[in-house]
Amino acid sequence: MQLTRRDFNRLAAASAAFSAVPRIVAQSTPAPSQKKTRYAAVGLGLISVQHFMPACRQSSMSEITGLVSGHPDKARRLAAEYNVPADSIYTYENYDEMRNNPNIDAVYIGLPNGMHAEYTIRAAKAGKHVLCEKPMTTSVADAEAMIAACKQADRKLMIAYRCQLEATILKARDLVQTGALGKIQGAQGAFGFNAQPGIWRLDRKLAGGGPLMDVGIYPLNTTRFLFGEEPGDIKANSSVIDHDGRFDQVEENLAWIMKFPSGITASYNTTYGAQMPGFLRIFGSKGILTLEPAFGYEGTHLVARINGPSRGQPGTTIDMPSPDKDPIEFVHEADYFANCIQNNLPVGPSGEEGLRDTRIMMDIYRASGRT
Ligand code: NAD
Repeated sequence: MQLTRRDFNRLAAASAAFSAVPRIVAQSTPAPSQKKTRYAAVGLGLISVQHFMPACRQSSMSEITGLVSGHPDKARRLAAEYNVPADSIYTYENYDEMRNNPNIDAVYIGLPNGMHAEYTIRAAKAGKHVLCEKPMTTSVADAEAMIAACKQADRKLMIAYRCQLEATILKARDLVQTGALGKIQGAQGAFGFNAQPGIWRLDRKLAGGGPLMDVGIYPLNTTRFLFGEEPGDIKANSSVIDHDGRFDQVEENLAWIMKFPSGITASYNTTYGAQMPGFLRIFGSKGILTLEPAFGYEGTHLVARINGPSRGQPGTTIDMPSPDKDPIEFVHEADYFANCIQNNLPVGPSGEEGLRDTRIMMDIYRASGRT
């Protein structure tokens, strides 16, 4: 898929949006380029095979030129599909040999959370840029080590916060930051699903934690992104209701509240015990904004109801379904990072951004009584 001028304007808008947060530096709009950033997909599971790799096939700036897998048959099948040569297929053991492969610029890490740090650090040492799935990792120390390794190797690190490039989320951010909703007073967010037994997400070593690390991170990261503030004063509760063996190592339910420096109070729920479609509600003195669905691949939907100028006067409704349904939001993600690499631009959803979420999630666990 060729990126249109509109797409580039959107990427620029995303960068401009990042710049409103002091920690993130704006990017200039690049000229559309035919040069492609060549990714090796590390871990050939759901997110890589169903989402990221097909998106690269639709992109004019990103392509898959390497594969890393512990399953040779799967790797060979996908190599044939993506025209990846046999000498660009790696295992987890010979991964570091990628340093000798000039046809791979970056890795995309779609592994269980507990493996992100090791494969980021090894990739940086092999001279590759890193686009790492969320959550960045499972401890603050690992997140710091990932940042340090990429800095030392002079490689870029992006955490795959695809929602930060999503048109409805950028619109929501605009409505919040321009004061269209008045003074923001409160927020509510949720995201969860009913986890099947036996998956790595229930294994503490591989997952780091339960639904908070996996899906609770979406409303957490999105509210931080919308408000441009860092929350504190966390209170939390976790529980296990289903004593069926699934939740021997990680939490089943978690609810927490936080306060942002401006005074915004926010409350969140996440679960592995029920279907909990993602949503976010923002309550301002002049209006209410809802994102529902908010974080899934099916596309988001923003509805903002802004009050009239005075009581009884008609107000404005903004109704914006997402134009970024899968795989387009993954195209934006791959190309955003490709653009950062090709033009040596700072990354918005950086390692530091992932580190901030990691710190807050650890604080949430501590506040809930889990460590
Ligand atoms: P998955 O189970 O479908 O894939 C994981 C891959 O890792 C598989 O190919 C598996 O073979 C490989 N792997 C290597 N060593 C493993 C081990 N010891 N145990 C288990 N698997 C091992 O998982 P997924 O849903 O693709 O999630 C991968 C990462 O992507 C996670 O960090 C997750 O949070 C993230 N994710 C992000 C999104 C998003 O929208 N950004 C969506 C889903 C998942």
